[in-house]
Amino acid sequence: MSHDMKSGEGIDVLDDVIRREDCRLCQSKNLKLVLKLEPTPLADSYIPEATKQSIYPLDLYLCEDCGFTQLLDVVQPQVIYFDYLFETKTSLGLVEHFGRYADEVLQKIKPAQDSLVVDIGSNDGSLLQFFKKQDMKVLGVDPAREIARKATEEGVETLAELFSEELGRSLREERGAASIITVNNLFANVDNLIDMTAGIRGWLAEDGVFVFESFYLVDQIENMVFDFSYHEHISYFSVKPLAAFFKSQGMELFDVKRVPTKGGSLRYFIQIAGGPRKVTSEVQDLIDLETSLNIHQPEAFKKFEEKINQAKENLLSLLDDIHAKGQTVAAYGASATSTTMIYHFDLTKRLSFIIDDNPQRQGLFSPGCHIPVKSPEDIYKEKPDYILVLAWRYYKAIMTNHKNYTDEGGRFIIPLPELEIL
Ligand SMILES: [Zn+2]
Repeated sequence: MSHDMKSGEGIDVLDDVIRREDCRLCQSKNLKLVLKLEPTPLADSYIPEATKQSIYPLDLYLCEDCGFTQLLDVVQPQVIYFDYLFETKTSLGLVEHFGRYADEVLQKIKPAQDSLVVDIGSNDGSLLQFFKKQDMKVLGVDPAREIARKATEEGVETLAELFSEELGRSLREERGAASIITVNNLFANVDNLIDMTAGIRGWLAEDGVFVFESFYLVDQIENMVFDFSYHEHISYFSVKPLAAFFKSQGMELFDVKRVPTKGGSLRYFIQIAGGPRKVTSEVQDLIDLETSLNIHQPEAFKKFEEKINQAKENLLSLLDDIHAKGQTVAAYGASATSTTMIYHFDLTKRLSFIIDDNPQRQGLFSPGCHIPVKSPEDIYKEKPDYILVLAWRYYKAIMTNHKNYTDEGGRFIIPLPELEIL
């Protein structure tokens, strides 16, 4: 192996992590550790040179009062975001998803033409572009300086700021009330949700709607998407605790919609309390589903953990057999989820390199354990006997693109939801 073995060096205690003592939604201190994942570096910090990176705990806690699942060790946003490089348009299918998203939101909310649509955590402006095409006024807010600058250049004005109640208030004065505010995946990444929600409430027009989308805890557990747990994702939302949270903030969750992104997500629609929209039956339906699956209780996580451990055991025994025969294993997919799987499944020493389609990732080293990232052409140069698909939710597309590899006798290993060799 050419890369260093860095796991097992212990956890670095640094100022860039703040440990929360209370529930992010209801402020209860009645919190229970329900899923302890292997500590990792920041999951997306692929680096050009193999230098030591800090490792942080990755423990999921359940609030026994409101039933909300969350990380309490919060890596500070300035560590994660100011130099953040991920661009929406580089992620498979995400731009198309945003096109449908904008259409659906406009159809449902029917805002007056030329009214203001705000996206907080707007990244490269991919979502706002679609609203702009429908003649809405748009404004993005995103702390990643370089991405904000580029988005503005490409026609979606984007302020390079961390959103807060104070910023929301001053932007309302400057730009007027917003008819739609979207937040999307950022909502799961923000520690102070009370401040952010106050900022959104303060900026919304009286009949305005706040929409956000986030991966759904029910789907995460049911579909075994445990690798979606990483430090950027500090909140693991479900409907019941959120409905109570918005109520406590003078708002009302009036509709939810399941969408397939990120292994299963939910789109939440919220208005100011007393707003014009009726609460749909979907809200209660999903609360009932969550209750029947026990996801507001520790039991659901105990079962989840057992399934994760079983998946790890099965995979390691397969990989150890392969290595015992002197055969080689590469991996496919250099994303944030890969880091969680590599660390939790103890794969560092078991993978010779990682392949990724994104040229910006090629030539870099994986976070912490520094496995080299190579291009798909390297499959045919290095000819690994097996490729473990870390990006397992996309395995069909990957296999279609690399039919030549299997034709030449190579085999793909799909680790989840059930271990398969194809
Ligand atoms: Zn709580």
